[in-house]
Amino acid sequence: MGCMTIHTASNILNADLHCHSVVSDGTLTPEALASRAKANGVELWALTDHDEIGGQHRAMAAASAVGLPYLTGTEVSVTFAHVTVHIVGLGFDADEAALAQGLYNTRNGRDQRAREMADQLAAVGIRGAFEGALKYAGNPELISRTHFARFLVETGVCADTYEVFRRFLTEGKPGFVPHRWARLGDAVRWIRDAGGMAVIAHPARYDLTPTAEYALFSEFKAHGGQGVEVVTGSHSPAEYPKYADMAIEFGLAASRGSDFHSPDESHTDLGALPHLEGRLTPVWEALADRIHWPSAVQAA
Ligand code: AMP
Ligand code: MN
Ligand code: MN
Ligand code: MN
Repeated sequence: MGCMTIHTASNILNADLHCHSVVSDGTLTPEALASRAKANGVELWALTDHDEIGGQHRAMAAASAVGLPYLTGTEVSVTFAHVTVHIVGLGFDADEAALAQGLYNTRNGRDQRAREMADQLAAVGIRGAFEGALKYAGNPELISRTHFARFLVETGVCADTYEVFRRFLTEGKPGFVPHRWARLGDAVRWIRDAGGMAVIAHPARYDLTPTAEYALFSEFKAHGGQGVEVVTGSHSPAEYPKYADMAIEFGLAASRGSDFHSPDESHTDLGALPHLEGRLTPVWEALADRIHWPSAVQAA
């Protein structure tokens, strides 16, 4: 493994370090995602299911089978100053017990939350939403708003999942249940103690004031966080330069990932993103010795 290097100039590597499988709220299996990533020209891949690492060994094996270098991944739900923030973990040891336990505890309230969401939807005339959403959840421990969104599309209440989130399931709308997720410092610590790197996911998505955003980045750094997503399918291209500037200002490495969930729902496919600007330090530089190389390549 020590003899292997990525030959593409580092910043133009087609790395996709953020996507979801049926183990959380994606619609494809880890195996189908590995094949799709390879077909789309991805050169380094990570599966980052929400609050779960149950798909990591499957993803690793599937990546190896199609000849794709792999980093372990997850996306932890965090409550920071009353706002839900997502922290991606990359390159950790997938068998580390404390990380698995922390994620288990983070998932734990989802069932009760889903029942309360369904009660709110029933109050506006939408019945059977708990069972309807659960049907879409490949992992019963991970029932998410995405699964409710699929049910509301299936039943014709909304035309697509984007309309669902505009009309339901978000703050002030029916079906929104505030939830207390992991603490920022805990999420960063679980990832780091398992040998990985913590990365702020899609920072533009949180609608933070400049002051709150500065606080998030500062506290994240103070807890030992080391990266931020700059090029992500969850940002518009106009938002990339701002977070490139913030990465440099805060001394954070830059990550890149589609946040792909489904061929039918996601605007950005695996690997279909612009490169990281040359002025940024990619997260995969510090994670070079955490990459799982395909066995065929390793043997060569
Ligand atoms: P949850 O973890 O149950 O709160 O669900 C969050 C998931 O819902 C995210 O990971 C996205 O996949 C999806 N989601 C959240 N907000 C939106 C939105 N505005 N439009 C589309 N999908 C969304
Ligand atoms: Mn999601
Ligand atoms: Mn996210
Ligand atoms: Mn995501």
